[in-house]
Amino acid sequence: MSLLLNPIEPPKLIKSWINNDAAHGSGRELPVFYPATGEQVSILVEDGPEDVNKAVISARKAFDNTSWSKQSIEKRIEILESCRKVILDNLDELARLECLATGLILREIKGFHLQRAAYNFRFFAQYISQTHGERFDNTEGYLTLVNREPAGVIGLIAPWNAPLALATMKIAASIAFGNCAILKPSEQTPFSLAKLVSLLSNILPPGVLNLVNGRGPVTGSHLVAHPGIDRISFTGGTVTGRSVMMEAGKQLTPCSMELGGKSANIIFSSADYQRALDGALIGIYSNNGQQCLAGSRILVEEKIFDQFVAEFIERTKQIVVGDPLKDETEIGPIASKRHMERILSFADLAVKDGDKLLVGGHKSDIHEKGYFMEPTAVLAKSNKSRVCQEEIFGPFASFIPFRSEDEAIEIANDTEFGLVSYIWSDHMPTIMNMSEAMRSGVVWVNTPMMRELRAPFGGFKNSGVAREGGYSCEQFYTEEKTISLPKSPLNLIKFGSR
Ligand code: NAD
Repeated sequence: MSLLLNPIEPPKLIKSWINNDAAHGSGRELPVFYPATGEQVSILVEDGPEDVNKAVISARKAFDNTSWSKQSIEKRIEILESCRKVILDNLDELARLECLATGLILREIKGFHLQRAAYNFRFFAQYISQTHGERFDNTEGYLTLVNREPAGVIGLIAPWNAPLALATMKIAASIAFGNCAILKPSEQTPFSLAKLVSLLSNILPPGVLNLVNGRGPVTGSHLVAHPGIDRISFTGGTVTGRSVMMEAGKQLTPCSMELGGKSANIIFSSADYQRALDGALIGIYSNNGQQCLAGSRILVEEKIFDQFVAEFIERTKQIVVGDPLKDETEIGPIASKRHMERILSFADLAVKDGDKLLVGGHKSDIHEKGYFMEPTAVLAKSNKSRVCQEEIFGPFASFIPFRSEDEAIEIANDTEFGLVSYIWSDHMPTIMNMSEAMRSGVVWVNTPMMRELRAPFGGFKNSGVAREGGYSCEQFYTEEKTISLPKSPLNLIKFGSR
């Protein structure tokens, strides 16, 4: 049992951030743990209804009374670029804070998550330099203009699996289009976003970005139910998303919902075998296996099934599970004890249901109290197995064989989810047929996880409502206004002059 060190000494108390000042919430104190050691490392002060109300008032004031929403595009671009710079200037500290709460591998946080977080600000800075309105000329002499105006005050609710990368997409998009925002991170992973909001408070005018902390059904639901909120941008589980949307519906608050997945990773015998094998391993095991877009159902054509599964298992056994601070680590700890126990319960369930456990399925003894588990794969009895239907959200793959394109399509689409699909084949008609048949918002062909920020990202079915990405964000974070006027005075009907 090796000694694991905390990546950084965190603040003793994590507070909210309202109107560019730290604020002490009025709610309970919640413990925050480091997943690698299971130690309590800090305390989060929960925000109650009055605290959420203060945050909404601060954002509303900034929106209504200050010049943020009317700020010139050039100035907003400059500010967004400064937000990007502050992330890169504080990369090491932010990365260590992200690691401390999530257990994600420090190398991946620095190399991917923080690069993406910084780029989100640059992306929207570039995007708003080119936004355009519409203009319609009418032969009867009318001119109609369509303006896009900021939507107002936005509630941003983020999950724990990639706090900085995911929340910065929401922050950058909402402020780029002239809105003011209130962010509620996951109560499990508050450190990095609290630090980021404090850094951004030196750049953004007061009230433009506020932070509230606490549990979803407490702080989160007060935010969603608040009548001063004009939009909710939510990323999280499908069950939570449904209840958030029902609550928001009472006020007719529009929602963008990025929800769960159970994506099919479909491997044909016509694929580049080695790339498909690498891709299948990345698809399920990266980000400690905790990602919405994981290729968690691996469908392999029968002809190559046995060999593919055997090599996948061999590679899985070689994966280095361990200290998230070490460069050689490939999978770190699971984000919480409860989540690890839930993932492992699917291994027991699979055995009871008649699926075959191929590898893993147990807690790993890297650290007595840390939340480490063995990467796991099962051979599913069929796609109806619970391990194929429920989002497990961990390093846990299910294998299913198929014989034809039609059968692969039927299995892939037989789920309540529809976030992404992966297709591995070098046969163009197969690629096109499969891409068009997938009931998912994204299809990745011969590549794992290629996210183009200009393109829409989001899910079909229970994987989401609306999309994130360039134009999709412009639509969500703005209101359209139609202004019509005559180009020269028109002859009007004269009521009451007959
Ligand atoms: P979760 O749904 O438990 O929580 C997400 C956020 O919602 C947290 O901040 C939580 O505190 C808050 N919340 C919970 N109940 C709430 C309520 N009643 N009202 C308001 N807010 C509430 O999800 P999680 O466990 O943090 O994250 C994992 C889930 O997120 C997985 O299902 C995963 O697929 C999904 N996810 C989706 C995407 C995507 O882009 N589609 C990206 C990442 C994660």
